[in-house]
Amino acid sequence: MKVAVVGAGVVGLAASAALLDGGADVVCLDRTGPMAERSTGSSRIFRLAHGSAELVALARDARAGWARWSEAAGRPLIRDVGCVVSGAPVLAWTACMRKAGAPYRMVGTADADLGLPVRRGPDVALLDTTGGVIDAEGTGAHLTRRAGAALRTSLVYLLEERGSGARVHTPDGPVDADAVLIAAGAGTSPLAAPVGLYTPTALAHHVRFTFATTHPGPLRGWIDQSPGRIATYQHMAGPGRWTVGGLLDHAGIAWEAGRAAAVDASREAVVGYVRERLDGVDPTVLDELYCTTMAELGDGFHIRRRGPFTAVYGDNLFKFAPLLGDLLARAVTEGTEDEVDYV
Ligand SMILES: Cc1cc2nc3c(=O)[nH]c(=O)nc-3n(C[C@H](O)[C@H](O)[C@H](O)COP(=O)(O)OP(=O)(O)OC[C@H]3O[C@@H](n4cnc5c(N)ncnc54)[C@H](O)[C@@H]3O)c2cc1C
Repeated sequence: MKVAVVGAGVVGLAASAALLDGGADVVCLDRTGPMAERSTGSSRIFRLAHGSAELVALARDARAGWARWSEAAGRPLIRDVGCVVSGAPVLAWTACMRKAGAPYRMVGTADADLGLPVRRGPDVALLDTTGGVIDAEGTGAHLTRRAGAALRTSLVYLLEERGSGARVHTPDGPVDADAVLIAAGAGTSPLAAPVGLYTPTALAHHVRFTFATTHPGPLRGWIDQSPGRIATYQHMAGPGRWTVGGLLDHAGIAWEAGRAAAVDASREAVVGYVRERLDGVDPTVLDELYCTTMAELGDGFHIRRRGPFTAVYGDNLFKFAPLLGDLLARAVTEGTEDEVDYV
């Protein structure tokens, strides 16, 4: 079976690797090159903790996939430092961890060391002991090696149904395939809509800022949604580097606000947070990582199929990548359901 995968972000690469393992003839096309858009950067948070027991169970399956990938890569692709969740989601997410039978502990100010660079820690927080920090660059290098000769740098500008298969149109000429997986991140909707697959179109801006820290580490990952402050996610992005993403309210990061204004609003909010809340983190921005996100999609992922075409979308996909690769390879080669939502 010949499969064309559009997109060589972590999702398209994971699916390409799983399809190649299953014996498919794969071509993976990306307009820029591997890991160039939403998958770029050094690190991501891995966590079991989610707002539904189903997602906790899926993340546990994904963690087993990360162990397999780490073994194949010859080095750990996740640093098992744990992930702390504080503020609004604690009660509900703890209930979901319990329901899914996932390991966790409650922690708080009574703990001598929370493993966070914080002035005054949260009174009560959920510690996801399986959580950690994903080596995103190492993951990209590993998957790019696995995809090997299947990778091709080329824009895909149109998909077309042809007989029982599909034609993928690129400026270098057409590619014919039995099936097409659209894993093109922000480019998914313009390709999927003309072949009859609806995926969300609304985008928002997102930026993550990196600061110097004097903490020697290891520090835990942290999702902080404490009252009276902006919601953030944070983790160690390398030795002496602490990275913080702010989850601003929609007006601040709305597409119509424009990239420059959204970056300015995010920087102001995150730097203010670092000054007020963190300890041992210098509030001078060393680095910023911009990307588009799907507006207000949250966790979870969605697979859509029609004829030879399969599309995937979601907003926090890195942590699920090994599982997603397997699920998408199965959906493309033997799937029968047209719509599956993992939420
Ligand atoms: C700053 C930041 C922090 C994040 N933190 C986390 C986190 O802690 N945990 C987590 O799980 N997730 C996190 N995420 C989200 C996660 O990184 C993304 O959901 C994931 O990387 C998306 O991968 P993807 O392969 O779907 O998309 P992408 O990486 O965007 O890949 C899509 C690819 O398709 C290509 N493409 C698009 N259109 C076309 C076309 N027409 N023709 C050819 N190629 C095309 C693009 O060039 C791109 O390479 C974060 C994202 C960012 C940016």
